[in-house]
Amino acid sequence: MTFSVHGLAVSRGIAIGRAVLVASSRADVAHYFIDADKTVEEIQRVRVARDAVAEEIARVQRDLPKDAPHELSALLDVHLMLLQDEQLSDGVKHWITDRLYNAEWALTTQYEVIARQFDEMEDEYLRERKADLEQVVERILGFMKGVASPVFPAAQAASRQPRQQDLLLDDTMDVPLVLIAHDISPADMLQFKQSLFVGFATDVGGKTSHTAIVARSLDIPAVVGARSASQLIEQDDWVIIDGDSGVLIVDPSPIILAEYGFKQRQGELERQRLNRLKHTPALTIDGQKVELLANIEMPDDTAGAVAVGAVGVGLFRSEFLFMGRTGKLPDEQEQYLAYRKAVEGMQGLPVTIRTVDIGSDKPLDRLAGKAQDGQLNPALGLRAIRWSLADPPMFLTQLRAILRAAVHGQVNLLVPMLAHASEIRQTLSLLDHARAELDNKGIAYGPVQLGAMIEIPAAALTVKLFLKYFDFLSIGTNDLIQYTLAIDRADEAVSHLYDPCHPAVLRLIADTIAECKAQGKGVSVCGEMAGDVGMTRLLLGLGLRSFSMHPSQILAVKQQVLRADASKLQRWAQDVLASEEPSALLSP
Ligand code: PEP
Ligand code: MG
Repeated sequence: MTFSVHGLAVSRGIAIGRAVLVASSRADVAHYFIDADKTVEEIQRVRVARDAVAEEIARVQRDLPKDAPHELSALLDVHLMLLQDEQLSDGVKHWITDRLYNAEWALTTQYEVIARQFDEMEDEYLRERKADLEQVVERILGFMKGVASPVFPAAQAASRQPRQQDLLLDDTMDVPLVLIAHDISPADMLQFKQSLFVGFATDVGGKTSHTAIVARSLDIPAVVGARSASQLIEQDDWVIIDGDSGVLIVDPSPIILAEYGFKQRQGELERQRLNRLKHTPALTIDGQKVELLANIEMPDDTAGAVAVGAVGVGLFRSEFLFMGRTGKLPDEQEQYLAYRKAVEGMQGLPVTIRTVDIGSDKPLDRLAGKAQDGQLNPALGLRAIRWSLADPPMFLTQLRAILRAAVHGQVNLLVPMLAHASEIRQTLSLLDHARAELDNKGIAYGPVQLGAMIEIPAAALTVKLFLKYFDFLSIGTNDLIQYTLAIDRADEAVSHLYDPCHPAVLRLIADTIAECKAQGKGVSVCGEMAGDVGMTRLLLGLGLRSFSMHPSQILAVKQQVLRADASKLQRWAQDVLASEEPSALLSP
């Protein structure tokens, strides 16, 4: 039966595919298709791992001391029984043989199917056996990790991305897949960059949560904050993800499917039309030049930025180099090579590298994220520059790497989350120190323009102080809104109050832009607001001439710029600023 689930639209377009439910704790399990002639081998991989785990449990049971509580042995019996459970092995076999899932993916998929049945059981004792099943599956996965090697790596799998016509071939494995999860960390999300999913949805997350931002960078339709989607949707259900209106339609009827198929084609045509603007200079009707820059997470993203005609990188979120590495941070050489790759990738255009912004909803890895749950307010805690200043050797390593990359092209160094003059001074002194270290070792480095993010209201209210020390400012509206309105940007429960057009937010943005212009300093916006076509005219009217956004948004924003008359917008923007309900004055 068709039903819909509502969430927040984060990434445009329509995706239609079968649901793959991925538990957040298992997002790091490899997902790829195997070759059809490898199914026997793949099933064997699970069998070998399962037998090894069974053997290990049996050995533990044999070696139990005589006086060990009886419950312990009984529990091990349960684990042995679950290991041999036919529903588990038959299910795994099904996902491998019929869908060509790799072994780990098949195992976790079948786990999700059985876990759901456990959830529905009346008997509490049986319901609690889900935790045992989970442990057993974890053990098998752990064993396979040691011996597993992808038969069909993710990048190749991506090239096998199914087409919509495959919808007709319902029963083959060659159908589009959409990812449904309760939550996915930004680090895990990165894993899906090269992957086989055509869309995704999560239960939690706000519009500018980091998961949503990475989702946008995957450039596939996505919905976050869909509350209980991962409970309501079942493995393998057909799902339409409408990334434009934030709706999921489950088990759609043929009429609905046809309607969305049509919308999907319209969207594709629109993209092709926008593509023609790639080489058009971004000038307003009255001849004002506007700079459209790219936000990137990894050096390879520069290819996408160049492809859409970005005139530089306005925000390289360097923390993505640090995440998902179980705490082992990249050393100077690794970072230098990554920054250099980004600089070279931009072929002479400027690259703004932001120093690491770890913390809050961007934990170093999932375990660190759990540890962080202990903090009462992680968004107000040790993140970004606070984290960097708390670990000078780590920060110096990054600063040296960035300075070295500046030999290869124009690099701007951007510092996140500054609020205090003392933090500014410490940062600058560490930068001097990094230069001195390189001088001492005789290592070459280049000049950098120095910028600060304005993303805490305290910073926006003391812009003059910032301009004393910095060459340019970049307004991080995602955090500026979060901190001005006291709304956790990652919490879907308060997402209705997350308002970029709140008069207080607009006032802080307007004043920051005005002060930079008065002093002849560069200013840009690099939060999600910069890529929102509904905000382009207002930002132009407030005097902004530099926008940094995900590459997939650049052409649509350019279209707005080409249609805008900046001098007329200036007067109108003052009316918007003075209004009680500014959003009412913005045309859709
Ligand atoms: C912002 O806060 O607007 C920003 C660009 O930084 P991030 O989204 O990475 O916190
Ligand atoms: Mg920020």
